[in-house]
Amino acid sequence: AAKKAGGATYQFFTPELNRRASDRMWTENNLRRALANDELELHFQPQFSLDGRLLIGAEALVRWRQPDGTLIMPGQFIPVAEDTGLILPLGDWVLGEACRRAAELLRHRTLLIAVNLSAVQLRRPGLAERVAGCLSAFGIPPSALELEVTESVLMDESDLVSETFSRLRGMGVSLAIDDFGTGYSSLAYLKRFRVDKLKIDRSFVSGLCAGNPDSGAIIEAITGMARSLRMQTLAEGVETEEQYQCLAKLGCDQGQGYLLGRPMPYDDFLAFVRREARAPEPRLAETVE
Ligand code: C2E
Ligand code: MG
Ligand code: MG
Ligand code: MG
Repeated sequence: AAKKAGGATYQFFTPELNRRASDRMWTENNLRRALANDELELHFQPQFSLDGRLLIGAEALVRWRQPDGTLIMPGQFIPVAEDTGLILPLGDWVLGEACRRAAELLRHRTLLIAVNLSAVQLRRPGLAERVAGCLSAFGIPPSALELEVTESVLMDESDLVSETFSRLRGMGVSLAIDDFGTGYSSLAYLKRFRVDKLKIDRSFVSGLCAGNPDSGAIIEAITGMARSLRMQTLAEGVETEEQYQCLAKLGCDQGQGYLLGRPMPYDDFLAFVRREARAPEPRLAETVE
């Protein structure tokens, strides 16, 4: 690869690239151990309806707890897991753990639990069966599970991904496009892949109201399109009350972000849910026939 770079042949030997390569090697070696030794954990970040500010669900986000207690964030190991194939056992663990936790949470409140999937997981045959197996193992209604994928997954030309999508939706599992608006995709995929929700990337949310009409215009275009296609919208990265109010005005359905709650360990989230349990319960979507 260094040769292909032509003139910049020696880039591999810069200290920066050396450090990055050895970080990756460290991550790969230790991630195997992490999986075997149960060092991964899921944190949960609450999701709210903007109209009424009801707790409606949570996104499960993976973290790696080092033996010394240090927490490693997914940005540091998910890309390595994807490159090495470790994302398959890791993703299976996340799905199972999310279902186990969802079953417990559902005893307290009706909630939608969202799980992130990598493209690699969708390209492996049998995902719908795997999901069905997890749901029945923990006795969870399919309507309580949402799967998040990024736009890059939808550029896949093969029929496998679109068939998997229809099977999952047919079961009643909902599908969301994560970081919507940041991918390279054309909107044509929205016709081919029916999804339930667009998660508007936080880059469009951060500039809201603060004298940036362009961000508002983009959000309004997304929520308008989503409504016509009978999809819901959720804004990521809601950090201020001002953003919250703007999003509600622009027709966004739901929000997630530090204003409403940070990702937190399961026990903290359970306490959070119990505090919210006095508020009215949300209704989950009807199961698709
Ligand atoms: P994501 O799915 O877009 O998740 C949202 C990320 O934004 C999370 O970062 C969350 O902590 C952060 N966030 C939430 N609210 C705010 C806010 O108000 N302001 C700001 N600045 N950030 C906010 P996190 O937990 O570090 O996860 C990063 C990414 O790692 C996720 O982005 C997702 O793509 C990936 N990831 C996490 N868990 C999994 C997993 O189990 N499987 C896979 N395949 N990917 C995962
Ligand atoms: Mg996500
Ligand atoms: Mg996201
Ligand atoms: Mg994101």
